[in-house]
Amino acid sequence: MSFAATILTLYPEMFPGPLGISLAGRALNEGRWRCDPVQIRDYATDRHRSVDDTPAGGGAGMVLRADVVAAAIDAVAVRSGGEARPLLAMTPRGRPLTQQRVRALAQGPGVVILCGRFEGFDERLFEGRAIEEVSIGDYVLSGGEMGALVLLDACIRLLPGVMGAPSSGDEESFESGLLEYPHYTRPAEWEGRTIPEVLRSGDHARIAAWRKARAETDTRLRRPDLWERHEGARVGSPSGAQRMKDE
Ligand code: SAM
Repeated sequence: MSFAATILTLYPEMFPGPLGISLAGRALNEGRWRCDPVQIRDYATDRHRSVDDTPAGGGAGMVLRADVVAAAIDAVAVRSGGEARPLLAMTPRGRPLTQQRVRALAQGPGVVILCGRFEGFDERLFEGRAIEEVSIGDYVLSGGEMGALVLLDACIRLLPGVMGAPSSGDEESFESGLLEYPHYTRPAEWEGRTIPEVLRSGDHARIAAWRKARAETDTRLRRPDLWERHEGARVGSPSGAQRMKDE
């Protein structure tokens, strides 16, 4: 069964976009995932095909109408092969996307993704439908489409048969709660810089120990937030373990 992605958007022509090339594009051609963009405007009911209106209470910008967006959601088969797919909305206030959430989504039947534009959605939409809000970071995009592409790219590379070696993803950043160790390749010397001796030693135990130590040091120095959580979970501190579970 392939991973089914339905994207509700005002710009369906943005899909599959960059996901039509490289790993994701090949996986699409092989039928490992399906890309089904849906034009929200098709569910407008007036002759101007309006999807947005001015904000109640005044202010700048426009707001996506709850009735039109809900009609689009309801029309989409939110079921795939008998299993319900999560309905996600891209919003800056949503729960930050994590590798853990990506992995869980990639193991499911697919996703339905709602892409905002303008000032975002009428709040009543979130009260009237079971929607999981997802953010891809603490910055503001002009629309949810880029966020949807990011989320889908992260999921697709984890689908069975998409990445070359089955273990390719296992040691990557965030998989173990740590950043990944640094990589090197030929030439052995570049601008006077050499590859660390241990990586040329052929001693797999020493290499593994070096990589583990570097992953820990880099995480501690670059991402103290991740390090604190990792350490908390490792020593079994209830706060650290709970935080990892929550994310
Ligand atoms: N008025 C909103 C606010 O201040 O939170 C920003 C709306 S933004 C210009 C338009 C749309 O882009 C949003 O509805 C959402 O779908 C998408 N978007 C913007 N930033 C995002 C982010 N960091 N993560 C996910 N989606 C985002």
